[in-house]
Amino acid sequence: MSAGAVISRHTGEIAQALQQATDGPVEVAWLQGQSCSGCTISLLQGQYPTLEETLSEFRMELTFHPTLMAEHGEAAIESMSKSPDILVLEGSVPTEIPSAATLGETPDGTSKPLVDWIDELAPEAEYVVGVGNCAAFGGWPAAENKNHLHDVGENVTGAKGLQFEQRYQPGVLGPNFTAGSGLPVINLGGCPPHPDYILLTIATVLNGHEPDLDRYQRPKPFYEPLVHDNCKWRGYFDRGEFADKPGEEGCLYQVGCAGPYTNCDDQTRLWNDGTSVCLNVGAPCIGCMEPGFWDRFQPLDKSVERQNIFGVDVETAGLAAVGAGVVGIGAHAGRKAMGYGKSEQGGNGGQSDAADAELTADVDEQPDAEAGDDKSV
Ligand code: SF4
Ligand code: SF4
Repeated sequence: MSAGAVISRHTGEIAQALQQATDGPVEVAWLQGQSCSGCTISLLQGQYPTLEETLSEFRMELTFHPTLMAEHGEAAIESMSKSPDILVLEGSVPTEIPSAATLGETPDGTSKPLVDWIDELAPEAEYVVGVGNCAAFGGWPAAENKNHLHDVGENVTGAKGLQFEQRYQPGVLGPNFTAGSGLPVINLGGCPPHPDYILLTIATVLNGHEPDLDRYQRPKPFYEPLVHDNCKWRGYFDRGEFADKPGEEGCLYQVGCAGPYTNCDDQTRLWNDGTSVCLNVGAPCIGCMEPGFWDRFQPLDKSVERQNIFGVDVETAGLAAVGAGVVGIGAHAGRKAMGYGKSEQGGNGGQSDAADAELTADVDEQPDAEAGDDKSV
């Protein structure tokens, strides 16, 4: 099977894929940085297989997991594989205040910063996976704190993801980092990511397939579909029928929905054993799968256009002109005006114009501080 075929299979096939993958022990070291453990909770909701089945039946050796392992103290550190087949990070890495996330001790008895563990273990691992937006892009610990609550500035701990800081490289590891397999960090964005994303990605790489990654190093089969294209409210959007508040019938665009700018397949995959997804219960998409979440879509209860980040009141202009469909087109034009060019990739893999603009964002360098990060979506 191609990587795409393996990775896009749903639930029932995950077990088979993992079983094929593991004809011997597979050592996994799962570290947690500045994290709420929500990604682990998401993993625990996996149904096919359950985490327990993954660990026992498929013989994956979770040599270290701060939340799930039985050992503690030095014994726990001892049991951690120092050259794991898969190194997983959940949570961001504090670089300005390294003591904000530590694990164990250095030989001189001081607390050992997480950033040092990453530097040591990542080059020794076959695969490195950033689980969740914090580990992939910095997540909420890297948020700007625009209002300077508690009299502190933005991203006070210097939180970074493994190979990205928000939408830009580098993260903790350099832009040219590759693990033993030759792959860069595989990012599973989401706050949290879907449990299938975690287990299917592991199954895919252990089957010897290289996942096809997008420019943010996310597996395309999961992160290429546009939420907006598969949303149950799409007909309402096209007719210009908007809800005034969450939970009402209608498209949730005016109450902050980031679906037109967010890529993932959870509208069709659904969560909690295929039960539902945020939009199906009247909660706007908040763009948690995207790098830069959550600053990019703040304030979360206002439409993206109302956040005035394009300098264009597309919502009003578009609707008054020829209907709500113009909104997306206008937004695209607005973003282009802010400096994004045409995608060099030609075809956009089924993504909409809105997503196409996103694909053109530069991830190679930090934005020019003088010009400022335009916060375009
Ligand atoms: S990505 Fe979200 S769920 Fe995962 S650790 Fe960070 S805040 Fe928690
Ligand atoms: S704007 Fe949001 S609620 Fe409306 S159709 Fe798009 S994804 Fe669905």
